[in-house]
Amino acid sequence: MNEYDSERILYYLKEKGYKTVLSPEESNIIIINTCAVREKANNRLFGHLGKLKNLKESRNDLIICVGGCTAQSMGEEIQKRCPFVDIVFGTHNISELPSLIDQKLASKGSICSIKNDGFDYELDKANRVNKYSALVPIIIGCNNFCSYCIVPYVRGREKSLAPDPIIENIEKLVSDGILEVTLLGQNVNSYGKDLCTGVDFPKLLEKISDIKGLERIRFMTSHPKDYSKRLIQVIKDRDNIVNHIHLPLQSGSNRVLKLMNRKYSREDYMDIVENVKSSIKDYSITTDIIVGFPGEEKKDFDDTMDIIKRVRCDRAFTFIYSPREGTSAAGMADPVPLKKKKEWFNELLKVQNNISFEKNKEHLGKVVKVLVEGFSPKDDSMLEGRMENNIIVNFKGKKGSIGRIVSIKIEKAMSFYLSGKIIN
Ligand code: SAH
Ligand code: SF4
Repeated sequence: MNEYDSERILYYLKEKGYKTVLSPEESNIIIINTCAVREKANNRLFGHLGKLKNLKESRNDLIICVGGCTAQSMGEEIQKRCPFVDIVFGTHNISELPSLIDQKLASKGSICSIKNDGFDYELDKANRVNKYSALVPIIIGCNNFCSYCIVPYVRGREKSLAPDPIIENIEKLVSDGILEVTLLGQNVNSYGKDLCTGVDFPKLLEKISDIKGLERIRFMTSHPKDYSKRLIQVIKDRDNIVNHIHLPLQSGSNRVLKLMNRKYSREDYMDIVENVKSSIKDYSITTDIIVGFPGEEKKDFDDTMDIIKRVRCDRAFTFIYSPREGTSAAGMADPVPLKKKKEWFNELLKVQNNISFEKNKEHLGKVVKVLVEGFSPKDDSMLEGRMENNIIVNFKGKKGSIGRIVSIKIEKAMSFYLSGKIIN
């Protein structure tokens, strides 16, 4: 969602006549779009600002802005800590940025503009960075209040975008050459509940899937509590909806899941996985796990390890719990030392990396479809693209393959990517 917001920021600045440059030294405006989901992301903001302080002192005309979730939650506090920040803006008023810049240019004083609610999403107002794959938000905000999570506080309540503008936007993107869309929402399964259009998430997927020329539809995130068999049926029926679901587990312990306010049990999660695996061949599941939630004990962690070994997700995004001020978990007793949490985390990582490697090896010798995105950033003699399940594949090929879906025979598997040779 932050990446998409950055594309919106870029759009509004380009409208104003600005262009992107390659270094802070060359720029008139620097905008930091922040994430607040874990403390580390917050700390990074102040690290970046610290580096910009000298530049600002030497260049009085430079405008420094901070937007996004940390800006939304900290507001003026950012300018108290870093008085050289010119503009702070929140998650609900990105479209105001051009006028905030005008105000700054006219007045010279610092500005903090945060709205507690609002909806300023216009889908055509985003400057697409990737020419073949586009992010498309379908529902903003979150109503779930998982006890560890800051998102509902910084993104507000759920608001779905109306189906017609979504369809029109994707049609336009496809006519501009986009082959793949990723539909975004904190819980895409809640889509449409706040509208009276009769279009829920599976129906929206069907409508999007009907768009001619759209090769791949991805979506994230799907909350396990709202999983539906209809959703799986739609995925099964439609060739251009990818056989991949990101289904965050967070914990394998029923006691911890309850404390997290996730509203499903480990048994529910296992049932979904069984259902998915028995309904669709070659289905790929990825997940998110938090280690060291307040009060998590060794036996809870063992439950997580147990489910990880049973489900065998293609990939897991793993995080050590980070207390977020204002969330209910931040007030819970948290006796386990960080050192122990890190040990558990490393244990989990080791097991999951091995599972990812084993899962990747299952592709050896197979021919897979890869959407070619460009040259590999690590090796510019190789092209890079993604399989349906989002796994990166590297291969030798010609520039002309960029922006096409090609068939690749997989020859080598690593934990996080695959490589092979082009066969068409
Ligand atoms: N809406 C998505 C999650 C968005 S946040 C969902 O419900 O699945 C992305 C991930 O960050 C979460 O799945 C969770 O694993 C992690 N996360 C969120 N808050 C966190 C915290 N306080 N500490 C550590 N990880 C956290
Ligand atoms: Fe956060 Fe839970 Fe909402 Fe996801 S569903 S954004 S984890 S509160």
